[in-house]
Amino acid sequence: MSAAMDELVDVEADPIRPIRAFDVRVSAVEQLTPHFRRITFTGADLELFGSNADGETLDLRIKVMIPSPGHALPELLSVRGSLTDEWYQKWRSLDESTRGVMRTYTVRSLRPAVPADGGRSAVPAELDIDFVLHLDGGSGPAAQWAAAAQPGDAMTLIGPCARWGDCLGIEFAPGDADRVLLVGDETAVPAIAAILSALPAHISGHAVLEVPTAADFLDIPTIANVDVRWHARNANPHGQAMSSAVRTVVVPAACDRGEEPEDVDVDATILWETPQKSPSQGLYAWIAGEAATIRELRRYLVRDVGMDRNAVAFMGYWRQGQALPG
Ligand SMILES: Cc1cc2nc3c(=O)[nH]c(=O)nc-3n(C[C@H](O)[C@H](O)[C@H](O)COP(=O)(O)OP(=O)(O)OC[C@H]3O[C@@H](n4cnc5c(N)ncnc54)[C@H](O)[C@@H]3O)c2cc1C
Repeated sequence: MSAAMDELVDVEADPIRPIRAFDVRVSAVEQLTPHFRRITFTGADLELFGSNADGETLDLRIKVMIPSPGHALPELLSVRGSLTDEWYQKWRSLDESTRGVMRTYTVRSLRPAVPADGGRSAVPAELDIDFVLHLDGGSGPAAQWAAAAQPGDAMTLIGPCARWGDCLGIEFAPGDADRVLLVGDETAVPAIAAILSALPAHISGHAVLEVPTAADFLDIPTIANVDVRWHARNANPHGQAMSSAVRTVVVPAACDRGEEPEDVDVDATILWETPQKSPSQGLYAWIAGEAATIRELRRYLVRDVGMDRNAVAFMGYWRQGQALPG
C-alpha cells in the first residue's frame, strides 16, 4: 500500500466519514436508447453506499473516476475506505497524465444486496448510472468510457457513506410544496427519473425533458400526478425546446414580476443555486442541464414569473464547449 494511499484513506481505523471511495466492477451494460447507456456496477463496497432516510437516491450526485487511456486508475484510488477531507486536493496533485479524470454523474438506481434465502443465492448490491453518449462533436472521456464499457471493467465511484447520518449530494428538497416543476436536458433525465419514481401520489405538476431525438424518450414510472412531457431536440439549438416548453407550463401573471437575478458567467463559474430554506406549500421547481440554458430559465422564472428563489433549485450540469474540471 503506497504512502499516498495512506494519506487519502484512513485505512487503519476506517472511521465514519461522509464520503467513501467504492471499488466496483461493471456487471451489466444496456443500451437504453441511441444516447442513453445504462451501466450497472456491483461490488462488496456498495453495501456501504448511502441514500436518504427512505432509502431513495433522488438526484444524488457522485464522482466517477475515468482511467487515462493506456493506464489503470492510480493505485491510490483503487481502494476501499473513508476519504479524508483533503482527498480532492490530493487527487489533483497527482500526475495529470496518469491520474485519470473525475466526472459527476447521478445514481439512477441503487439496489441493496439481497441475502441468500433457502435455495436462493445471495444477490449483491448494484448501482446504475445512465450515461449520455455525447459522441458526435464534443465528446469527452466519460462518454467514451461508457461507450466502450464491458462487464468486468473496474471503476472507482466516490459517494456517500451509509454509516454517516446525512446523505451528501442530494439537492432535491421540495419541503412542503405540493406541486413540482422538473426541467432538464438529457444529463438531468436520470435525476428526474429517480425523483419521479420516489414522488408520492399527492404531488402534482409537470416534468419537461429535452433529449437529442425522439428515440431517446424513456418510460418513467411514477405514481405522482405529474405530467411528463418529452421534447426531441433534433437539429435545433440545445435548450430551445425545453425553454419554450417551460414558458407554456409556467406563465407570468400580469403583476408578479420579480427582480432581475444577478448575472452568472457560466463560462467562468458553475451555476448552482439551491434554496436556502425549505419551500412552503405551492410550487417547487428543480431545473438542471446545460448551464447557459439554465441561466436563461433562471432569469425567466425569477424575473418574469416572479418565483421565490427559495422555491427553485437551478443547477448547471455541464457547459457547452467546455470540459468540466476534474
Ligand atoms: C450533479 C450532476 C449530475 C450529472 N448527472 C449526469 C448523468 O446522470 N448522466 C450524464 O450523462 N451526465 C450527467 N452529468 C453531466 C456530466 O457530468 C457531463 O456531461 C460531463 O461533462 C461528461 O463528461 P465527459 O468526460 O463525457 O465530457 P467532458 O470532458 O466534460 O466534455 C467534453 C466536451 O463535451 C461536451 N459535453 C459534455 N457533456 C455533454 C452532453 N451531455 N452533450 C453534449 N456535449 C457535452 C463539453 O461541452 C465539452 O465540449 C451530471 C452533471 C452534474 C454536475
